[in-house]
Amino acid sequence: MNLLLRNARIASESSPDLLSADVLIVDGVIQKIAKGITAADGAKVIDCKNQVLCPAFFDAHVHLREPGQEHKENIATGSESAINGGITGLVMMPNTSPARDSGAAVSAVLESGKRNSRIPIYTSGCVTKGRDGKEMAGIDGMRAAGVKMLTDDGDTTLNSSVLYRAMQYASEFGMFFASHCEVPELAGPRALNDGPTAYKLGIAGSPACAEEIIIDRDIRLAHATGAHIHIQHVSSKMGMETIRWWKSRGDVKVTAEVSPHHLLFTDEDIGDFDTHYKMNPPLRGKADNEGLLEGLLDGTFDMIATDHAPHSPFEKSQEFVSAPNGITGLDTAVVSLYHYFVKEGKFGWDTLVKKYSAEPRRLMSLEVPTIAEGQTANLTLFNTEATSTFTKDFMKSKSQNTPFLNKTLQGRIDLVVLGDKILLERQ
Ligand SMILES: [Zn+2]
Repeated sequence: MNLLLRNARIASESSPDLLSADVLIVDGVIQKIAKGITAADGAKVIDCKNQVLCPAFFDAHVHLREPGQEHKENIATGSESAINGGITGLVMMPNTSPARDSGAAVSAVLESGKRNSRIPIYTSGCVTKGRDGKEMAGIDGMRAAGVKMLTDDGDTTLNSSVLYRAMQYASEFGMFFASHCEVPELAGPRALNDGPTAYKLGIAGSPACAEEIIIDRDIRLAHATGAHIHIQHVSSKMGMETIRWWKSRGDVKVTAEVSPHHLLFTDEDIGDFDTHYKMNPPLRGKADNEGLLEGLLDGTFDMIATDHAPHSPFEKSQEFVSAPNGITGLDTAVVSLYHYFVKEGKFGWDTLVKKYSAEPRRLMSLEVPTIAEGQTANLTLFNTEATSTFTKDFMKSKSQNTPFLNKTLQGRIDLVVLGDKILLERQ
């Protein structure tokens, strides 16, 4: 396949400026970047006026529900949802049914990925057997099957001694830990943040300290064992400050992620018990939104990750406390980050590319794609002039539990290319 992208504005993680040029792709490789390239016979030519060409995105925190809850999502639908959102790689969480805690379970799901997904998908594995927090999982077998990230996501690994020993053991093999941070007895029913909205709605709230205590504990355990700890979906300003303080010491390997929804929404958005704003950790206040953005810009947060968590309409339509936590994110992440942050001048394309394409791949020790001569094509074309309306038909996830359902935002993913394949083309 010969593909000529004419008049593209090229984004990279190293500069906020966009470079204007034509980009020629031959047999899946970027052959030439220059002005005024003439198309060879038979080349497909796309005029990229109003388009920004980015290295394709990558999400390090995704729930695809396979095996066990395929009525919500599976690898086929989840990976198409990713492509629809300009994403060409992702890491699945292991809180499936049964939990992914052995080499055999990892191999089975990666096999399914090869058969059912058009993009590479990776998986994390459980820290503890059955994710019950008591006994170390089959770490050796999972490592042999290709796992790098260990996590009991959905819950904290509560037994500090088990986590401490797992850290000592797995770090020897270059594996790292990802932590969902929560003291369960403090978090309570985990429905929403402890604050004025919770009082108004008459629900026992989950205070931010339930999360912040474990952020600190898990980094301390990593500090003591020499393990690399990655803190997942941080929701509060003080959680961010805890990570910033540990990073400033320079003697522990800690990385962290923040989700689009924690940057964008507050507990007040729950309004009249709207379960599309119910997730764990919960949405907090305006000062937390601002603190999280500050942490993203100063490097406290290495990356953005969606925590894509599909649930069926039936489950999400239960009353607020009983409805499951989580919202989808793959279809909407890049457009929403453009709409609320890049377009508004809160951060540039370089930040978007760094935090949602380059850094999550570095976390997973994967090659980082760039738009440069000699590189394999792994790219997304973003139309800044068009809009996206997130209807049920537009989104490819099996579930539509997102606050963006039926909303229109500025920006649209128009093209996704991986190697010599066009995975998505939209006009
Ligand atoms: Zn989680």
